[in-house]
Amino acid sequence: MGSSEFSLFQPSPKRSVLHKAPSLIADGFLFVGGASLALSVVWALLTFINPTTISFDNIIAWNAGPCGPDLRSDPPEPTFYDDENLSYAFGEPVKDWDSKRREWLKLHPSFAAGAAVDNRVLLVTGSQPTVCKNPVGDHLQLRLFKNKVDYCRIHGLDIFYNNVLLDPKGTGFWAKYPLLRAAMLAHPESEWIWWVDSDAVLTDMEFKLPLEKYKDHNLVVHGWWNMLYEQKSWTSLNAGVLLIRNCQWSLNLLDKWASMGPQGPDPKNWGKIQKSLIKDKAYPGSDDQSALIYLLIKEKSKWADKIYLESEYNLHGYWLGIVDGLDGISKGYMEIDREVDLLRRRHAEKVSLFYGQMREKYMREKGIWRENKRRPFVTHFTGCEPCSGEHNGMYTWEACWNGMQKALNFADNQVLRRFGFVHPDLLNSSWVSPLPFDFPDA
Ligand code: UDP
Ligand code: MN
Repeated sequence: MGSSEFSLFQPSPKRSVLHKAPSLIADGFLFVGGASLALSVVWALLTFINPTTISFDNIIAWNAGPCGPDLRSDPPEPTFYDDENLSYAFGEPVKDWDSKRREWLKLHPSFAAGAAVDNRVLLVTGSQPTVCKNPVGDHLQLRLFKNKVDYCRIHGLDIFYNNVLLDPKGTGFWAKYPLLRAAMLAHPESEWIWWVDSDAVLTDMEFKLPLEKYKDHNLVVHGWWNMLYEQKSWTSLNAGVLLIRNCQWSLNLLDKWASMGPQGPDPKNWGKIQKSLIKDKAYPGSDDQSALIYLLIKEKSKWADKIYLESEYNLHGYWLGIVDGLDGISKGYMEIDREVDLLRRRHAEKVSLFYGQMREKYMREKGIWRENKRRPFVTHFTGCEPCSGEHNGMYTWEACWNGMQKALNFADNQVLRRFGFVHPDLLNSSWVSPLPFDFPDA
């Protein structure tokens, strides 16, 4: 999209908004001050009523949770945040990140527990700064984002949506690299950053990332080693969904990766080098997927042992092979629900994962584990370009549109069920009907 459109749709920030900031901060102090005053009064009253059982510690515990992250304090000891030479932007590499992050975690023990034990994950996604050219593009972006928010709420993950170019040269699929670097610095408490392309739909709301499996790896993408080394194919892996560990190795990889794109000195030449290595590469310029394939082939000893190519489940699944099977998969899951009484039990959304685990166990025991019976974890509409509408000529826009409706409604059905409703027709996004008690056995 041209810069004229950019300026047309991006009014400069209003002064009134900027000037409001100090008063908002002051309001914040007033609120915190007021809240602690109220808390002290409650505490005084409660200790007065029953001085033996109620302590101030209990009250704080109700408020913040004794084991949860402490969101209200930041110790005065200097950390990497206080180093004026540390830059969030590409240019100067970040050094000693592992020890800097460790030091920060030591000063923030309530986060350290989460980072180590739960493998805390931050989902990062985003889209372009301007209005979509495709008239239905922004509607689709909203639904695609809602889908990720739903997943994160159910799994207790943090999410960050970005729609600015942190590096003006890094457009399109290159936009994620400066963002991933900044996200690592902004979230030292997150062990993993999970990048999910905006055009990817999470189509199994109960599936939990098997992070334990990746404990010796720093980057996870969907792919196949034999296809990579034997065929050197562009589709031997996909860079649209990736899990990257928050560590120095990853920062080095991001620097290297982005240096082959428009942020680097010679993207045109990198496009040619990639094309000569990867015969089925269609895009003429340098692209990030080819850049990763290049690194795995040409700098194998430097990177490959820390990269995990996942193919046991759809960390990325190509939409074209998935969408026609979604109705059948829904039916299969309903049959399981008919067989297992507990899976039909209505429950609060917050405890969905308990039932998800129950279903997983049942499916494994029954041998319903492989794809085409299971919900695909991620359905990626790569090539559909929902925002620009400039989809790959291999298929029609109608196929993309219908596929996206199906995948989004398929995922939404898993969410809506906890709210008592269902989309009876995956191709009709507006129509929902209430679910009867004991569905689907009713
Ligand atoms: N993207 C972004 N900012 C932009 C343009 C794109 O963050 O200005 C992201 C967006 O999430 C998009 C991804 O980059 O999904 C990669 O592009 P796309 O999905 O169109 O590539 P494809 O999967 O079709 O190869
Ligand atoms: Mn994509």
